[in-house]
Amino acid sequence: MKTAIYLFLIISLNITPQKRICFTFDDFPHVYIQLYNDNFMKNSMQKFIDTLLVYRVPAIAFINEIKLYNNYGFENAKIVELVRMWIDAGFEIGNHTYSHKNLNLYPAGSFKTDIFLGEKITNRILKEKNKKMTYFRFPQLETGKTAQEFKEIKEFLRKHGYETAPVTMKNEDFYFAAAYSKANKQKDPAQMKLIAQDYLSYLPKFIDYFEKQSEFLFKRQINQIMLLHVNELNIDYINEVCKVFINKGYQFITMEKALSDPVYAIEETYYGSAGIPFLESKAIKTGIFYNPHKLKLFRGTHIELPKYLKKP
Ligand SMILES: [Zn+2]
Repeated sequence: MKTAIYLFLIISLNITPQKRICFTFDDFPHVYIQLYNDNFMKNSMQKFIDTLLVYRVPAIAFINEIKLYNNYGFENAKIVELVRMWIDAGFEIGNHTYSHKNLNLYPAGSFKTDIFLGEKITNRILKEKNKKMTYFRFPQLETGKTAQEFKEIKEFLRKHGYETAPVTMKNEDFYFAAAYSKANKQKDPAQMKLIAQDYLSYLPKFIDYFEKQSEFLFKRQINQIMLLHVNELNIDYINEVCKVFINKGYQFITMEKALSDPVYAIEETYYGSAGIPFLESKAIKTGIFYNPHKLKLFRGTHIELPKYLKKP
């Protein structure tokens, strides 16, 4: 049935997928999990999973295990169940540290502890299937303030069997999602709809922006890796988000397949005060960043977010 729906979508949209993208969902099981009751979360997760299966999106989620415990430090079985639902549906899961710790704000030692704490429950569930987490995503994409810190953590991750999951398309969905959740709290469905429409019209421009960067740097479309968050907006509109990418000619792929693109063999050397996405770090490495003319061409037109969205 799901295959039939997928084929129908592909045929009806008259599209031959050529470009490839891996969808990654950070802050799993939900950015603001404390705001929702367990039943709501279970139903939302089921709906989310079902839609991803319809579109055959081999997504990977990056978990913060702190969200799997209650205020007394005990495991919350109903939240842990969400992790099991995700894994049982065949999706991948990676480590995003226990408490979403930002390496640039904490010493390397406490960051390592957060990596270990962040794999306890998930690896226990994965062990039943003879699997373990193998991908790691840095919170805020921040990889260390100094060369020493950067190298130390990179080596630590390698030793413990983790590969870093980069981001090429850094979505600003959290601005839309915060406004969307606020409108929902205020019981304002008209405003929620407006925000969702603005989000869906922002996405094609956002895709163009990063495609141009790929073309500028590599003269082709690389396998893209998209950062999304598990939030109310994406859960409600994942169907439409998938359609935007299909309309743009994308095929959904796994993290492993994405990383098989030779561009990811180029050694990552960027560290510093800001977490930046993959293409930008390559622009630094190749010197484009320091040539104002080339940088302007590389970055192209900045995508404006709607004025009502609060940016820090
Ligand atoms: Zn995160």
